[in-house]
Amino acid sequence: MLKKWFATSLWKRVVLALVLGVATGFAVGEDIVAIKWIGDLFIRLIKMLVVPLIFFSLVGGVAAIGDIRKLGSVGGRAMALFFSTAIIAVTTGMVLATLVKPGSGLVIELPDGTAPPPPPDQSLVEMIIAIVPENPVMSMAQGQILPVIIFAIMFGMALLMTGEEAKPLTRGIEAASAVMQRLTIIVMEFTPFGVFALMAWVAGTFGFEALMPLSKLVILNYVGCGIILLLVYPAILRFIAKLPTLDFYRGIVDAQAVAFSTASSNATLPITLRCVQRNLGVSKSISGFAVALGATVNMNGTAMYLGVIAIFGAQAFGVELTWISYLLIGLTATLGAIGTAGVPGAGLIMMSLVLSAIGVPLETIAFVAGINHLLDMMRTMTNVTGDAVVAVAVGRMAGEIDVEEYVSADDV
Ligand code: ASP
Repeated sequence: MLKKWFATSLWKRVVLALVLGVATGFAVGEDIVAIKWIGDLFIRLIKMLVVPLIFFSLVGGVAAIGDIRKLGSVGGRAMALFFSTAIIAVTTGMVLATLVKPGSGLVIELPDGTAPPPPPDQSLVEMIIAIVPENPVMSMAQGQILPVIIFAIMFGMALLMTGEEAKPLTRGIEAASAVMQRLTIIVMEFTPFGVFALMAWVAGTFGFEALMPLSKLVILNYVGCGIILLLVYPAILRFIAKLPTLDFYRGIVDAQAVAFSTASSNATLPITLRCVQRNLGVSKSISGFAVALGATVNMNGTAMYLGVIAIFGAQAFGVELTWISYLLIGLTATLGAIGTAGVPGAGLIMMSLVLSAIGVPLETIAFVAGINHLLDMMRTMTNVTGDAVVAVAVGRMAGEIDVEEYVSADDV
């Protein structure tokens, strides 16, 4: 039995766990909360990997690119893809919400005592400044991913420029990165149990009744993410990476299941990195760079969601939207998605940025908060998949993808 378990590829075990988890949650109901600790333990285990993994794989990745100019072109391409997909995503959200009108005719009654969450406590300029760490060790200790990324990229660049003298350190960092990846494989064996517990908890605590009044909104968000997953990403794979979509999805399914059940791009990062390298054959240098950066700045599901909710709020509160409002939604949602941390619920906080820009009451946030986690799971899965798409596309453009590995069914 145990032998059979380990002989089955991990993604099959994870998908099975997901399905069984949902079924168990529905069958047991709220009492299933008793097993949530297994999911929490799983999240802690993967979070434990994030900071050292990002640091070592990014420094190692940048050093392995071997040439500052190539780094510039890889970074530029990745950023261009991050931006363009975010804009497509917000537009998708806005078009869907304008067509379906989920907020029209809705009488908003906020549950007693709900107040909108406070807006982000930083202005846009402060957010940009905060990307550069004052003290990299403190940023690592506090798990602030973006400053760690900036420090790691700059450290890797300096390592490249130092040349011969820094070689022993480069080798040391490569070794540390290999060790962290081995640790990721060990932790990934725990994925089916974590996914089972988390899905059972979600299914057991969110009854269907809670969803009914907002079902249109939930469906719309899922359809929006579906469009990105099934049309936008395959188009990038087909026309930019010139690689088949089906192999891509088979290779990334572990990361998708973890993203769906944890609702955190950051927590999923170790698994995404592993899938992109091991199953999709993207080189360590490109994947380290694109996936780590993508996990914090590339949030297409979030961008789409921000677009949908902004228009939903305007409809529900009868706020008229001009074409300038649509432009403002596009701009603030793109920036907001980039600024969203890869942790559960972060997109909801960014909502205030978009709503205030177009004069929609922030109460919309409190209204959506009840279903936020359900939306978060789907958008996080879309976000994480987007990171892998960009890694594959950039890897392909830089000639750093092992196509045989990509198309082979030999996945972990
Ligand atoms: N939870 C999302 C993520 O980690 C961010 C969001 O709340 O939209 O990707």
